[in-house]
Amino acid sequence: MNEISVPRPNSLDAFWMPFSDNKYFKGDTSRLLARAEGMHYYTPEGREILDGTAGLWCCNAGHGRREIVEAIQKQAAIMDFAPTFQLGHPIAFEAAARVAELAPEGMDRVFFTNSGSESADTALKIALAYHKARGESSRVRLIGRERGYHGVGFGGMSVGGIGTNRKQFGALLPYVDHLPHTHGLKENVFARGEPPAGAHLADALENLVALHGAETIAAVMVEPVAGSTGVLVPPVGYLKRLRDICDRHGILLIFDEVITGFGRLGTNFGAERLGVTPDIMTMAKGLTNAAVPMGAVAVKNGIYDAIVEGTAAGIEFFHGYTYSGHPLAAAASIATLELHKTEDLPGRARAIEPYWQDAVHSLKSEPNVIDTRDIGLIGGIELAPRAGKPGQRAMSVFRRCFDAGVLVRVTGDIVALSPPLIVERPHVDRMVGTLAEAIRAEAA
Ligand code: PLP
Repeated sequence: MNEISVPRPNSLDAFWMPFSDNKYFKGDTSRLLARAEGMHYYTPEGREILDGTAGLWCCNAGHGRREIVEAIQKQAAIMDFAPTFQLGHPIAFEAAARVAELAPEGMDRVFFTNSGSESADTALKIALAYHKARGESSRVRLIGRERGYHGVGFGGMSVGGIGTNRKQFGALLPYVDHLPHTHGLKENVFARGEPPAGAHLADALENLVALHGAETIAAVMVEPVAGSTGVLVPPVGYLKRLRDICDRHGILLIFDEVITGFGRLGTNFGAERLGVTPDIMTMAKGLTNAAVPMGAVAVKNGIYDAIVEGTAAGIEFFHGYTYSGHPLAAAASIATLELHKTEDLPGRARAIEPYWQDAVHSLKSEPNVIDTRDIGLIGGIELAPRAGKPGQRAMSVFRRCFDAGVLVRVTGDIVALSPPLIVERPHVDRMVGTLAEAIRAEAA
């Protein structure tokens, strides 16, 4: 086998790296990862890097799990690919049934995609198709939230609320509004778990109803916990309030569970932990432990029924991907969800959460730390930005951690931690200890 673990000289040019400072990276090739196992990555030179991010919030069961590798290998040998348009293969149906088993009760219908972005756009299209199927074609307005991240498709990007991700791309989708974000309330600084203040921010949805009329609004999409914009944990009662307003006005509630799904909050999905059930739920990442790209959208049975049972004959939903339910992804997801169950990954996350919480909040006394927050196995450490240079302080901390053998993620001036759910106390100590040293060194 031809193994490429070290790039050829000058071979970095061709790959246009996503969400990256290409010029900087290509002048600094020290951050290459060539192998992964358990809680660790290894660089091409064999240096061990402790994974504080589960890849990108994905590898919940840890890296290189034999069970998943073997399931993929086996399936590749049995059948590489078969379409799922007007056809099927058993393994895709089994994978959907496994997802439905984990989803909240009554969400038994699952549409497969290849990513979180595709799941977001699929969910928005399902919401629009649902209202149309029920004769409410005027419900076309989609509501997102400032600082929300729902991937990079035109739907998810438009409903998403990150300025930098939108500005390069023109007008985006029409009929989109945003609720205010929940970040930065002074009562919530250094809060443990769900912060106390801010449930009232959900009432902004009532304002949009008053402005546009409920009969024009199709859906509201939010992340139960926003990760990519710096770990924004929902205030106590906020999601429930959003749910109530949606119910009052016939608006669908979509949870983007791409990072909160599959055990991250100590439950199968964030919905369970936070006590609010959405109508539609998107997922990806942990669905296959990231071994093969796959996303999914689970919907309440009534939504499927309105669209599918409500169509007399022929194709009911004009949407899908060549690789929806791809056999290798389906095999990877079945093996992953088996590990999720047999190793009780949500239970492991719950068991270590108090220790994790203490560790994350122990950073509050470090220099320039202006907030620490956590929920489940997520931690956010917010740093005061350097004057006139937002993001630089956290980026410097990121590099220092990497050089010291720990992978963290930064977004703006917030360091986000989300280790694999198999993390143990010594890993937590090393992660947080290295981060504390990096923060101190940066400040010195
Ligand atoms: N939604 C959320 C909440 C995410 O965190 C992400 C990725 O981080 C996405 C959607 C997009 O997923 P993908 O990169 O697989 O398209």
